[in-house]
Amino acid sequence: MSLPEEARLNETDGIYLRRAIALADKARERGNRPFGALIVGAGGKVLAEATNANGESGDCTAHAELSAIRLASPLFTREELSAATLYSSSEPCVMCAGAIFWSAIGRVIYGIDAERLRVFRGERLDQKDAELSCRDVFNTSSHAIECIGPALIEEASTSHQGAWKV
Ligand SMILES: [Zn+2]
Repeated sequence: MSLPEEARLNETDGIYLRRAIALADKARERGNRPFGALIVGAGGKVLAEATNANGESGDCTAHAELSAIRLASPLFTREELSAATLYSSSEPCVMCAGAIFWSAIGRVIYGIDAERLRVFRGERLDQKDAELSCRDVFNTSSHAIECIGPALIEEASTSHQGAWKV
């Protein structure tokens, strides 16, 4: 299991990561998988935020991180996004890690890691993820992508308790 990385968070990172976790709870209340994400610019401005919308939309790609990137990408320059941080309630999947790469976002902070999340996801095939770490994707990037996580694991875990057994 990966060790918690709270020590690497700056003073505002915790606030935004908790916002991502709150968005995950909001997603769950609406009948979606419990995931949330937001993108925060260098000056602390929230550029975009999104919840998972799998349940509401029927779109299997409606992950929170990908949706937040789709909102921010047309509105902000590559330079602005490279200076931004994406906060996600959980470790980005391989699809979202790819979208983070294409967006040029330079920093990623997540709550619960994929390994711990698998305990909640259970054994159903349609709930299993591809076992490739977001860092595996980021490490192949031609530009640097700083990645911090897992962090606030206990808080990020509460969104998933009892959410995957249906
Ligand atoms: Zn994803």
